[in-house]
Amino acid sequence: MDLNKLILKWYDKNKRDLPWRNTKNPYNIWVSEIILQQTRMEQGIYYYNRFISKFPDLKTLANSDEKEVLLLWQGLGYYSRARNLHFTAKHIFNELNSQFPETYDELIKLKGIGDYTASAISSICFEKARPVLDGNVFRIISRVFEIKNPIDLNNSRKVFKEKAYEIMPNKRFGDYNQALMDFGSIICKPVNPLCSSCVLSKVCNAFKNDSVGNYPVKSTKNQVKSMHFNYLVVKNKSQFLIEQINEGIWKNMYQFPVFISESKKNKKDVIKFFSEKFHVENLRLEPVDSEYINHKLSHINIKSKFWLFEDKMKHNRGVYVSSFKDYPMSKLMHKFIEKYKYKLGLS
Ligand code: SF4
Repeated sequence: MDLNKLILKWYDKNKRDLPWRNTKNPYNIWVSEIILQQTRMEQGIYYYNRFISKFPDLKTLANSDEKEVLLLWQGLGYYSRARNLHFTAKHIFNELNSQFPETYDELIKLKGIGDYTASAISSICFEKARPVLDGNVFRIISRVFEIKNPIDLNNSRKVFKEKAYEIMPNKRFGDYNQALMDFGSIICKPVNPLCSSCVLSKVCNAFKNDSVGNYPVKSTKNQVKSMHFNYLVVKNKSQFLIEQINEGIWKNMYQFPVFISESKKNKKDVIKFFSEKFHVENLRLEPVDSEYINHKLSHINIKSKFWLFEDKMKHNRGVYVSSFKDYPMSKLMHKFIEKYKYKLGLS
């Protein structure tokens, strides 16, 4: 039997019961695919349900404030996904008369929609013959066909894409793509794949040649950079100064004023930086704790230190707040606030 028939037969018996599986509404599929990028399934389901209950359709999302979307996205990371969802919802609502594009070529023009999401939406919602290429599919294809091209190199994409087209069925394109995603998560897993009970074992070259552990091939490990973030916690009576972030992964969210550097900085450096930033002299700072709070992102390890300044800054940047609940903030900010809330006089 062909590989695609084996996969579809397996899917018909084993498909996961996910909240977006019983709809072909492109809005729901789009939201689910964006949330699931870089997210564990369990966490993805939780955020998807919350997102859909707050923004049940395109119109509601398009008419909402970006701040509300970021608030709901807190803790999920990769916040550009939330900003792009909001931007594109407004674009479809205002410029495309609320008509979700159906073809890959139209979908890929939308902000935040790349090859993977355009293929997923066009196949799942509109039955277009577009194969998806995510980590699961790269892994399955590389093992079944023993493809040695490193999956993390751009020029390998073409090889995998051609193979993905070659093995597509001639119908049920949406089911087939979802079947591959489920199969990769449940059977052909990154570590300890279930080869002995796998329906593809008879057609899988890596299994036949006992080389499963060699695939997928990666060129190098991603370089993770270390960065130092020194935050200034300005406390004035029961209020704290926070600023909106202008750029980067946390754009439009809020945080304490920060001094970012590649090398470690001492108290003198931190005082100098913030004295210049806020045009103040004799800045008196004390570390909230002698320990760092470490925070890992995909490409950066952040070592963060928080410095307390108890007074009011005379400047017109940022906003003084007594509660952070209405301001979208990163996980790192929440980690700090949670750990030191008593010390900061927060209940
Ligand atoms: S036999 Fe093993 S490596 Fe091959 S497809 Fe099945 S689970 Fe993956």
